[in-house]
Amino acid sequence: MATQPAAKIGESWQDIDTPALVVDLDHLEHNLATMADYARQQGVRLRPHSKSHKCPAIAHQQIALGAVGVCCQKVSEAEVMVAHGILDILVSNQIIGRAKLNRLAALAKQAEIAVCVDNIDNIDEINDAAERFNVSIKVLVEVNVGSARCGVLPGQETLILAKAIAECEHLHFAGLQAYHGGAQHLRSFEARRRTILQAANLVEETVSLLAEHGFHCDIIGGGGTGTYIFEATSGIYNELQVGSYVFMDQDYSLNLNAQGEPIDEFKQSLSIKSAVLSKPQSHRCVLDAGLKAFSTDSGLPGIARYEHTKVLGAADEHTNIEFSKHTQVPEIGDAVTLLPSHCDPTVNLHDWLIGIRKGQVQTIWPVAARGALL
Ligand code: PLP
Ligand code: MN
Repeated sequence: MATQPAAKIGESWQDIDTPALVVDLDHLEHNLATMADYARQQGVRLRPHSKSHKCPAIAHQQIALGAVGVCCQKVSEAEVMVAHGILDILVSNQIIGRAKLNRLAALAKQAEIAVCVDNIDNIDEINDAAERFNVSIKVLVEVNVGSARCGVLPGQETLILAKAIAECEHLHFAGLQAYHGGAQHLRSFEARRRTILQAANLVEETVSLLAEHGFHCDIIGGGGTGTYIFEATSGIYNELQVGSYVFMDQDYSLNLNAQGEPIDEFKQSLSIKSAVLSKPQSHRCVLDAGLKAFSTDSGLPGIARYEHTKVLGAADEHTNIEFSKHTQVPEIGDAVTLLPSHCDPTVNLHDWLIGIRKGQVQTIWPVAARGALL
């Protein structure tokens, strides 16, 4: 059950109650347009990952700008997107077990659904579910191109699964997913370029092997916010499944471009508005937002506007900040803006996303797929 949002449309940023998840709409729209334009120029399809925003409203904007559909990581996330009219979905993950596969097959009655596999028994399971619901499901083989999460090896292992998919009456072999998660946050441009070049070579060899056996890959997908340039220009990948570019993790600002400077084509659009709850010492403040308002798997959040601050630590509902003797220290009730180090899990902690433009609340979107873990 969603809580009440922390603001009303038309109110000013100052009026937003805290803690609240806030998106700068000018920055968001800049990011959406920049990626859409880039994909179009490079002649690759864009299928952004909805796990980052979990908001059908943003997915619709991405599609209006030319995206062919979205990726979801979970069946329940896909259910939310389909319920809100997003009708072309790649579940960029493995889905196992009868309960979830029934839900996946049910979705295929309403929308184009594709799913990834890396296991032969799972292929049979998906086919059985598709048969029960009398639907056809597109299936991609997930290939491990170096990041060693899910995925079979390129080459023969991939071919074996493609053959198994093709033998299933209710499945359609739709191509490959070759996402390299481990490359996204490599700091040097050259390291990311080299890593994706190696991945693209493995994919190219695999696509040729499949072609020799009569298999065509409609989708050759991959690419995240850290590496999309290299997949897009590889001549091999034809779909980008970028997610974080909509908001930009603080952590992504540590990635360097070809000139050795922080990447800057996307703007950080997401923040958490918090307030000073307590000021136990003249230079130490405690904020009203903690681990339940932001994720810390990529580090503690940054602090906007105030310089020379140090985040001492975060607890469930509190963040402790030390201010330098040379800065102005906020008073109890003053707002402090936090910049999430990792947006995907941060968004999943909030019921509402408050959109501001020129200091005014313009949209309030439910994070409709929040908690969609099944
Ligand atoms: N595709 C898959 C399978 C992912 O796991 C992720 C992110 O973890 C993405 C795409 C999007 O990557 P990013 O959020 O870095 O753009
Ligand atoms: Mn992420």
